[in-house]
Amino acid sequence: MSVAVRFAPSPTGLLHVGNVRLALVNWLFAHKAGGNFLLRLDDTDEERSKPEYAEGIERDLTWLGLTWDRFARESDRYGRYDAVAAALKASGRLYPCYETPEELNLKRASLVSQGRPPIYDRAALRLSDADRARLESEGRKPHWRFKLEHKPVEWTDLVRGPVHFEGSALSDPVLIREDGRPLYTLTSVVDDADLAITHVIRGEDHVANTAVQIQIFEAVGGAIPVFAHLPLLTDATGQGLSKRLGSLSVASLREEEGIEPMALASLLAKLGTSDAIEPRLTLDELVAEFDIAKVSRATPKFDPEELLRLNARILHLLPFERVSGELAALGLDDADAAFWEAVRPNLSRVAEARDWWAVTHAPVAPAADDPAFLAEAAALLPDEPWDLSTWGTWTGAVKAKTGRKGKDLFLPLRRALTGRDHGPELKNLLPLIGRTRAQKRLAGETA
Ligand code: GLU
Repeated sequence: MSVAVRFAPSPTGLLHVGNVRLALVNWLFAHKAGGNFLLRLDDTDEERSKPEYAEGIERDLTWLGLTWDRFARESDRYGRYDAVAAALKASGRLYPCYETPEELNLKRASLVSQGRPPIYDRAALRLSDADRARLESEGRKPHWRFKLEHKPVEWTDLVRGPVHFEGSALSDPVLIREDGRPLYTLTSVVDDADLAITHVIRGEDHVANTAVQIQIFEAVGGAIPVFAHLPLLTDATGQGLSKRLGSLSVASLREEEGIEPMALASLLAKLGTSDAIEPRLTLDELVAEFDIAKVSRATPKFDPEELLRLNARILHLLPFERVSGELAALGLDDADAAFWEAVRPNLSRVAEARDWWAVTHAPVAPAADDPAFLAEAAALLPDEPWDLSTWGTWTGAVKAKTGRKGKDLFLPLRRALTGRDHGPELKNLLPLIGRTRAQKRLAGETA
C-alpha cells in the first residue's frame, strides 16, 4: 500500500513554526516514500474556526512549497461522522453521560485530592433507563463517551520506540458533545481510516490521544496507521509555542522578518535531528537527506537568530531568478543579475537590497574627506564600458600614481563612491555606479 500522510491543522489561528515543522516533516516523509500528502482542515470547532485562518494555512504551505495531493475539510463530513457514531452507539461502545462540567470538575478534584489519577468513574454506565429519562426530563442532554477496553494498548512509534498504555489508566474519551457535534478524537480516526492514511506523524502532545484512538480504529474497523510523535519545538528560552504567538507565526516571518521559504525549511527539516543545519535551496535536497529515524526525542529549540543567519547564507547562494519577484515587489523592477550578485553577500534579508540599490542608482552624499587624493583618483578613471575588471585596473593605476595601498587607498574611495565605510565589493559595485556618478562623487558632489 502506498504511503499516505496528512497534516491536519485546526483553522483556529495562525500557523507557527512548530505547526509548520510538522507539515514539513509529513511532506518530506511522503515525498521520500513516493507517497501522498493530504491537507485536512480540522474545522469542527465552529466557534473558533475561521475562513481567514484556513486561507492563511494554505498561503503558508504554498509559500513553503508544501503542495498537497489531496484536500479534505472535516466540516464537509458530518454525515459520515454521524453514521459512525450511530454504529458505535448501537454496539454499546458509545454511552450517554449527563454530568455537567462542574460535576466533572468536582469528581476530578476529589480524585486528585486522594492522590488518585483523574479517570472518569463511568458512573453514567450505571444509570438505569428511568434515571436517564429523569435527567432528560430535567432538560439535560447527553454527551457521549467511548468505552475503552481495559487492556494494554501498544505501538512502535517511529520516534519514541515501543509505547505502552493500560486502557484502565485512561479516561473514556468524550466523542460527541452535548449539542451532537463530534469531537476531534473521533473525527480524526474516521478520516484517517476513510482516507487510508498509513502514517500519522504529529506532535508528542497527542501520545495519549493515540492510545485512545487505536482503540477507536479497532472499533470502527479501520486499519491502524503507523505513528510517529515528534517532540514539540520550544522558543529560545524553552517555552512552548502557542498559536497566538504572532512573532513566530509563518506569516510574520514571511511578511515582517523577510525570511526566505528555503531558510525556514532548511532549519525546520533539521532541527531536532542528528543532521547539521545547512542552507539548502530546494525541498528536493531536503527530501534526499530526510529520514525520520534521525529525529531525536530531545526537545528542539527554535532560535530566530539562527533562522536569520541561515536566511543570510541562503541569500548568498540564491540565483537572481529566485529573487527577481521579491526585488520587483520592493520596487526594484530594473534590478538585474549583476546587481543581485553584487549585493547579495551583504544581505540578511532581501529588503536590504533597497539600500544598495540607492547606492548604485540614486543620489548619494559622498564622504569625500580627502579631496586632493580623490581628485588624483578621479583623473585616472578609465573610459567606459566598465566591467568587473575596471576596479582592479583603476585602483592599480591610483596605487602606482599615489603610492598608497591597503586601507589608505581603498577606504577613501569607498567612502566617496558609496557614502559608507562598509558594503559589497567595489569591483562589483563600480560598474553599476557608472563613470558619471563616480566622477561626481569623487569630486564631493551628491550624485
Ligand atoms: N487538529 C489536530 C491538531 O491540530 C490534529 C492532530 C493530529 O495530527 O491528529 O492538533
